[in-house]
Amino acid sequence: MQEPLPADQEVEAQQLAALLSEATREDLLRLARTLVASRETSPFGDTEFEARDILLRAAARAYERFLAQKKNGYEGASVTCPHCRQAAAYHGDHARALVGLFGTLRYRRAYYYCRRCGRGCAPFDQRAGITPRQLTPALEQLATLAGTAGDSFERAAGLLEEMAGVRLSEATVARTTEDAGTRLAHLLGEGTTFGPAREWGWHADARGRSVAYLTVDSTGTRQQGPGGARAEGRMAYVAGVYNPPPLEWLRPPGPVPRLQARYLSGLYPLAALGPLLRRQALQVGMEGAELWVALTDGGGGLESFCRQNFNRPDLVLILDFYHAASYLGKLARALHPQQEEQARAQAEQWCRLLKEEGGAATLAVLRQWDWPARQPAALREQRAAVEEYFGNNLHRMEYPEYLAEGWHTGSGVVESACKTVVGQRLKGAGMRWGTDGAHALCHLRALYRSEKGQWEAFWRRQLHNRPTVQQLN
Ligand SMILES: [Zn+2]
Repeated sequence: MQEPLPADQEVEAQQLAALLSEATREDLLRLARTLVASRETSPFGDTEFEARDILLRAAARAYERFLAQKKNGYEGASVTCPHCRQAAAYHGDHARALVGLFGTLRYRRAYYYCRRCGRGCAPFDQRAGITPRQLTPALEQLATLAGTAGDSFERAAGLLEEMAGVRLSEATVARTTEDAGTRLAHLLGEGTTFGPAREWGWHADARGRSVAYLTVDSTGTRQQGPGGARAEGRMAYVAGVYNPPPLEWLRPPGPVPRLQARYLSGLYPLAALGPLLRRQALQVGMEGAELWVALTDGGGGLESFCRQNFNRPDLVLILDFYHAASYLGKLARALHPQQEEQARAQAEQWCRLLKEEGGAATLAVLRQWDWPARQPAALREQRAAVEEYFGNNLHRMEYPEYLAEGWHTGSGVVESACKTVVGQRLKGAGMRWGTDGAHALCHLRALYRSEKGQWEAFWRRQLHNRPTVQQLN
């Protein structure tokens, strides 16, 4: 239900409605013709797309008519220059075009020019949140969503056109998305969190203790150096706090609870990620969980990162089971290089051993294995790799114990965090990124993959925290 307007505004609205119907008369006539002509075929399908385009154009005309009546951003003879805080003088109304959800709109808005720093400003654009590429905030949000969720910026532009009926170039989608990601990174760096603090309902383990999980992993991105030259790939970190559904045998009957997760990602040094992740943990009430479990693979520095940033004496450190198991898979393939079936059966047997007896027992069995007398280099190398990886991580490979406690020992979350947050978007075939672009996209991907509400809260904040232009008299 629409709230009734105060009487004077209602009069204005009535007058505007008359103007709008006049401004859109041509468009509505076209729509009527399209519908009548579709009688032979169908008013739906292709006709729907045609009708949408016509209606979007009509909406654009309506907006234009509305804006044409207003003094868009005229605030007197001068305003405070946003760059140097001196007076910037009014220099007339300038015609501009912007692109919004209804396509291109033409409008005029007051323009102020600062002679001191030689820069102009338009209070209307600033207040309305028009982007440097002249997009409205609503279109900026959709372009960024497409740029974040789509496989590439080119695909994103196609997605936007098909879903929203708005055409933007690939370059505009790319630039808009990267700008939004850069702002997001900046806000997180300042300590901003999105949405209200809310303690998750942490699920209980076998002894009834509520458990919170955290994870951190690294993944490579392909980078492009200056002038398009190949450059050394930078590592992106992906970290998260999460509340997974209980293990199956601990799950109450009924629907499986939804995974709750907050991710963070960027081309950070590992140390810089700590405060950012702790802030997310604080916002979801991780302090309230009785036990913390940190799941990582054997990557350099990950375990100490968890110890330093989530420093509880009873912090449980677990080596992600799937990473450990992948070492056994490779070892089995090196032992049976030509026999896929045998390799698979051997890997399964070793993984079962790892799960049921733990890392130390598995390593002992492997050391006493009846290895062939003559071993190819690949097998020798993989044996050494297992020896080193297991040897370094035995203290967090007590899988039978963890499972008996009802803890996750690896999960889709850990295994797929890197893949879904970064890999799917940043490692597409032939994709190369500049450092800034990759950093920005990592942040957006992490927000986008986080629990429902985070993405929306970021955009609501964008809308409601605009700089205002001060008026000078
Ligand atoms: Zn200035």
